[in-house]
Amino acid sequence: MSADRINLLRTKVFDKSKWMQLPRDVVIGHDVIEQIPAVCEDLALGDSVLIVSGGQTRDIAGKKVEALLAGSYDVATFAANDGDPLETIRKAEAAAAEAGFVIGVGGGRVIDTAKIASYNTDRHFISVPTAASHDGIASSRASVPTAEGNVSLAAEPPIAVVADTAVIASAPHRLLASGCADIIANYTAILDWELSHRLRGEPLSEYALTLSRMTAEILFKNADLIKPHSEESAWLVTKALVSSGVAMSIAGSSRPGSGGEHKFSHALEKLAPGKGLHGEKCGIGAIITMYLHGGDWEGIRDSLKKIGAPTTPAGIGVDDETAVAALLAARTIRPERFTILDMGLTEESARDLVKMLYRE
Ligand SMILES: [Zn+2]
Repeated sequence: MSADRINLLRTKVFDKSKWMQLPRDVVIGHDVIEQIPAVCEDLALGDSVLIVSGGQTRDIAGKKVEALLAGSYDVATFAANDGDPLETIRKAEAAAAEAGFVIGVGGGRVIDTAKIASYNTDRHFISVPTAASHDGIASSRASVPTAEGNVSLAAEPPIAVVADTAVIASAPHRLLASGCADIIANYTAILDWELSHRLRGEPLSEYALTLSRMTAEILFKNADLIKPHSEESAWLVTKALVSSGVAMSIAGSSRPGSGGEHKFSHALEKLAPGKGLHGEKCGIGAIITMYLHGGDWEGIRDSLKKIGAPTTPAGIGVDDETAVAALLAARTIRPERFTILDMGLTEESARDLVKMLYRE
């Protein structure tokens, strides 16, 4: 597939170098939240910690982490509330600067706030997700909503991930289904990456690509096992999200897990703010981009149905015309990230696709 390009590259002087930042401790399973003191001790990150949590997630797990560490560490807390996200990040940075390391205990917004604040203050970051809703729990990028739409910011990749399946299984099923959809969308992200490699010579990491595809395959094959409030399901999905994050760390970008379906999701975020979760939108987008790649789009749709994720724009309260507009606007999002949606999709054909592929 990419052998020709590899052979071409061999004629050049070898001058590659690369950093891959991977988590050191990944602890997943029943009641592993109890092992946080052992993880902190193992990593020897200092004697003061900032615990970032949310309103509800602090009650669910944040307070427990605070209590577990209180005897051995100087513990400070920060609430990532619903206010202006950039303002919240600035305040979190000021708090992180006073601490030796940072732990984020919560959902997407909390984890993103904690990892950006850690990155900007050069602190290590431990990720303690309370839901398995997207692959940011183990990656080095964070997405922040602003008035101009979502922006992707550099963030500290977690030095450890502590994912308690009892906590994650008790979160609303919609979050887990959304995390699954984000992973199943790896299939189309990879096809877009390969397309860009063939068409534009974009560098490809076979390791990252293979890991990302394998992660999608595991969830695709086990879609029947993904059930609400089951720890087995939380286990499967959390491992997949961590593996997907590792694939991104190996690639040094979000490319293995983010292609046209993600650009569609970001375009929808702008055109219909607040409608649908990140992974839900990516899953819906992947149905169309898989069709455009000539792949098994019905398989994608059926597996999303099985796990309980929406498969149509109507399923997240978006009308067909807005979905058409998002498909066309996708090419204006991160234009340097070339995908199948940048290949000349016309308005008429976008309309036909939405009508044809998004039937219940
Ligand atoms: Zn995603």
